[in-house]
Amino acid sequence: MDSCDILVIGAGPAGMEAALAASAGGARVIVVERAPWPGGNIFRHHGLVRSSGAGRARRPGDALKRRFLASGCDIRLGCSVISAAADRSVVVAGPSGLQRIRARAVILACGASERIIPFPGWTSPGVIGLAALTNMMKADDAVPAGRIVLSGMGPLLYSAAWKAHGLGADIAAIVDPLPLGDWLAALPRMLARPGLLSTGAYWMMRLRLAEIPILRHSHIREIRDQDDRKIVVVSQAGEAERMIPADFVCAGHGLRPNTEVTRLIGAEHEFLAARGGLVPVLTEDSETTVPGYFVAGDSGGIAGAESALRHGAQLGRHVAALLGKPAPVSRVSAIWSACRMRMASSFGRAMAGLAAPREELYDMIGDDTVICRCEEVTRAEYCHELVNPHAAKMRTRCGMGPCQGRYCGDTAAFLLARHRDLPMAQAERWTPRLPIFPTSIDELIGDFQDSDLVSSAASAAERGLL
Ligand SMILES: Cc1cc2nc3c(=O)[nH]c(=O)nc-3n(C[C@H](O)[C@H](O)[C@H](O)COP(=O)(O)OP(=O)(O)OC[C@H]3O[C@@H](n4cnc5c(N)ncnc54)[C@H](O)[C@@H]3O)c2cc1C
Repeated sequence: MDSCDILVIGAGPAGMEAALAASAGGARVIVVERAPWPGGNIFRHHGLVRSSGAGRARRPGDALKRRFLASGCDIRLGCSVISAAADRSVVVAGPSGLQRIRARAVILACGASERIIPFPGWTSPGVIGLAALTNMMKADDAVPAGRIVLSGMGPLLYSAAWKAHGLGADIAAIVDPLPLGDWLAALPRMLARPGLLSTGAYWMMRLRLAEIPILRHSHIREIRDQDDRKIVVVSQAGEAERMIPADFVCAGHGLRPNTEVTRLIGAEHEFLAARGGLVPVLTEDSETTVPGYFVAGDSGGIAGAESALRHGAQLGRHVAALLGKPAPVSRVSAIWSACRMRMASSFGRAMAGLAAPREELYDMIGDDTVICRCEEVTRAEYCHELVNPHAAKMRTRCGMGPCQGRYCGDTAAFLLARHRDLPMAQAERWTPRLPIFPTSIDELIGDFQDSDLVSSAASAAERGLL
């Protein structure tokens, strides 16, 4: 078993900054990241610099990635934490098989996943998540061909639309479920970052000038396949239903914090819609109710990339100091970074509030709508077995596919809340099972030669096991 002072899980903005700050005072830090490169969901592009038409262009996050890779931390890319225990030991699956790591403290910086509230047609080919589109654009500068309908909650919708427009996408419509009043109500908190606010306003204005229809207070009711195209049925408050022909649809309903590890170790959680839904209960110092496990960035509650950067750095310093390995930091820079953290989190939380899970959209899920896309379970099939959520999961296999409930878990919790007439906050959740990510046989056993198998079989036979 490997050991270290601080184990950081996830190398997005929060994890990279946490590792840099934690190692600055001499702590031995291991970082485990599932993707083959660091950067998380915001700095998704592969490698450090990419060439563009005008030569080699720097991208946001490149400088941070460089500092991180040169930091001297033990960085294990392409490795996933698939199990964790309350004693701060974790199991990691990666190219060299399974590893166990035991740490004096663990910083979870596992980020978030996209939430999709099911509607008819959401699992058909040519429909992807809105956040998935942003990743496609960041990783490959690519947009789907043909006419696209975009739908999503909060600023991510307009940022994705602006970027897609810039890459030449043919946008048939932007479907925004929020009424204008919700945007206006969020304005005061967004003023914490006037630069970003004005950028967002500029995007909206330019999209309007490009004559792209923006349908506010509206949602996609259904996507039908007709001949070679899709017909996107959009309901808009106070308007007749519209049928929009399209080739591709990108639709999401905000982000949800990744809580699989915190739930696996038995930490307490609470439901805070404005932070993205289920979040671990944290102390002032971002420690979970399981001692030695800390959470940074979106996995503790959605607050955006800037907040994740600041939070990671602050938490890395704090945890290193707790272990007696404080990083040298001047008082002025500590105060400055605390101020920036406050501004970033005020903006980020306003943004997350706009993208909070909306019960009225869950209420619209029809009986025949697929709620678990891995196992193709409909609402009616799941609800028919809903004596308790665990029985319903076993009988229908809802949540047992490759996503392990990451996408359908929130919907299942909502259905249970409705079934028992409870607020969503009190709906019981499925217990995460290990491995929390699909794990290949290669990752379980590492590299091997065929001859290894023969000798293992011979030795098993000798011991009477075969
Ligand atoms: C799909 C998606 C697209 C987004 N696109 C945008 C965008 O275009 N613009 C924008 O402003 N914001 C975007 N966001 C939000 C933004 O990315 C986040 O606010 C920000 O990146 C949060 O940083 P983080 O470090 O907390 O998490 P993340 O950046 O999500 O990083 C978490 C990292 O942890 C790793 N990880 C998770 N679990 C494990 C595990 N068990 N073992 C090992 N590694 C693990 C993940 O692979 C990931 O690299 C997006 C979010 C998502 C989910």
